[in-house]
Amino acid sequence: MPQKKKQTEVRLKGVPAAPGIAIGPVYLFNNTYPKVKVRKLEASEISAETERFKVALETTRRDILKTRSLAVKQTGDIVARIFDSHLLILDDAMLIDETTQRLKEDNICADAIVHNIMQRTYKSLKAQQGEYFSQRADDVYDVARRIIYNLQGLEDQHLSELTHPVIIIASNLSPSDVIHLDRKHVLGIATDMGGATSHTAILTRSIEVPAVTGLKNVTEIACSGENIVVNGNSGKVVLFPTKKHLDQYQSKRKRYLSFMSKLKKLRDLPTETSDGHRIELMANIELPVETQAAVEHGGEGIGLFRTEYLYLTRKSMPTEEEQISEYRHVVETMKPHPVVIRTFDLGGDKIMPGFEFPKENNPFLGWRAIRVSLDMEDSLRAQFSAILQASYKRDVRILLPLISGVAEVRKARRILGEVMDDLAKHKLKFDPSIKLGIMIEVPSAVIMADELALECDFFSIGTNDLVQYTLAVDRANENVAQYYTAYHPAVLRMIRSTVKAAHNAGIPVALCGELAGDPLATLLLIGLEIDELSVSPVLIPEIKKIIRSTDFELAKDVMRKAFQYCMASEVEKFMTTTMKKLFADLPVWFNKD
Ligand code: PEP
Ligand code: MG
Repeated sequence: MPQKKKQTEVRLKGVPAAPGIAIGPVYLFNNTYPKVKVRKLEASEISAETERFKVALETTRRDILKTRSLAVKQTGDIVARIFDSHLLILDDAMLIDETTQRLKEDNICADAIVHNIMQRTYKSLKAQQGEYFSQRADDVYDVARRIIYNLQGLEDQHLSELTHPVIIIASNLSPSDVIHLDRKHVLGIATDMGGATSHTAILTRSIEVPAVTGLKNVTEIACSGENIVVNGNSGKVVLFPTKKHLDQYQSKRKRYLSFMSKLKKLRDLPTETSDGHRIELMANIELPVETQAAVEHGGEGIGLFRTEYLYLTRKSMPTEEEQISEYRHVVETMKPHPVVIRTFDLGGDKIMPGFEFPKENNPFLGWRAIRVSLDMEDSLRAQFSAILQASYKRDVRILLPLISGVAEVRKARRILGEVMDDLAKHKLKFDPSIKLGIMIEVPSAVIMADELALECDFFSIGTNDLVQYTLAVDRANENVAQYYTAYHPAVLRMIRSTVKAAHNAGIPVALCGELAGDPLATLLLIGLEIDELSVSPVLIPEIKKIIRSTDFELAKDVMRKAFQYCMASEVEKFMTTTMKKLFADLPVWFNKD
């Protein structure tokens, strides 16, 4: 009998989409897009074809609703709302009207027309910069696949009937694939396509299945039944692992699981140092669906709700009513905890399709965030009004992005006051002493922090932008990525002087950039006396563990030492050595391999 050729180990690096380490046999899942042939129609066939299209739409709607209710059972109402966006795509008047019209004019089958329309939308979304559009494109792809499956009477393959534990390998998984998967038997997921904040990634995180996406060619290399390791913390995937590596990963997995179960126990304990110094530990969210994860991980509120993400695929600004409903949803889920709602941060790399944005050479230095809002006063008024109406008897706060000086705050405050007067006139209820805060993410705001602190109720430091504007490094440009670091002493000094100005004026200061969720920086930030950290929901337990295991004096000492270095690399090295010495048992150490 011929000997089976021994495969050599292959290591791939993708995007860590859902944390955890999975080890098991490969299950190759084929959910490819159906073949679409152009079939010519006789004039007499058009009305039957129109009917066939309508039936396929209805069947697709039922499929989506069924998946949605399954999602409600499995993950709760908020996550299930992902499928509402699929219904919106399905109900898009353009899809329905254009298909019906072209059936009459082009004399070709509905499959080809739907495919053509959806492909056009998909391509135009993919052509936009930023991961958000790419995710919406994936949603369009998923809905198109479903409609064409239904037009062709094909059975959608589901992952609900697996017989033994496996790791799913697929080109791409749609949110509905994830909802249908048999959780008893799915150990992990690895896909060619996808990013960290796609709906699929959000879902895999919420059902707690380790996942790595964006591996490009894992489906070409993986063999059914062969062992594979998926490290959802680091984004590494090992195919055909050697016995030695397999054993190492098994023990790493055991250690990881034991750390995580210890971290879970911290969920309802206060976030304070061992000597009682309290920090508010909040969650950053981009979509209301993530509120669920914030609650589950013990978030003490939403420290940053990036509202622009709700609307980036729309062709027009959302109405006030739509906003009230979205904001209330998050606020009611988090009550009695605070929710900080940031006004639209459009522009930069976040452009709304169908919305006239000027062509700019430097969009990050251009018409962005508060500048757009102050120029489009009606839309700012509508957003203020919606936030205010969601604030009645709840702890809701407003945050203004990209403030560069006092003038913008005063103008926004004046408009906020007028919106309040208007609501009162109409006998609509709101919190009249709602807090107004500003993002500190532009160097001029740091320099003017003393004056700005007198104009607002809190600061929230946005290190993602503060780094790019302080170091003159485009945050989205891979060519200069090595210069982009929050550990640069200039950035750390900016944070220190912001805290000083805030505390001199008696207002609290939060930090909501990615640095807040970096476990290497936690002691430094406590030592700098930041009052609140707002981080991605999954990172809450780890950051809480560090805070609860340290004391304030130690953190101040670490901070003072870190400030003695004059290079980012030295600060980062110092923090890594210090943290490894103090906290050998942290999930962050699993991120490297
Ligand atoms: C920041 O700049 O740090 C921030 C939190 O805002 P965004 O990442 O949305 O620009
Ligand atoms: Mg920012």
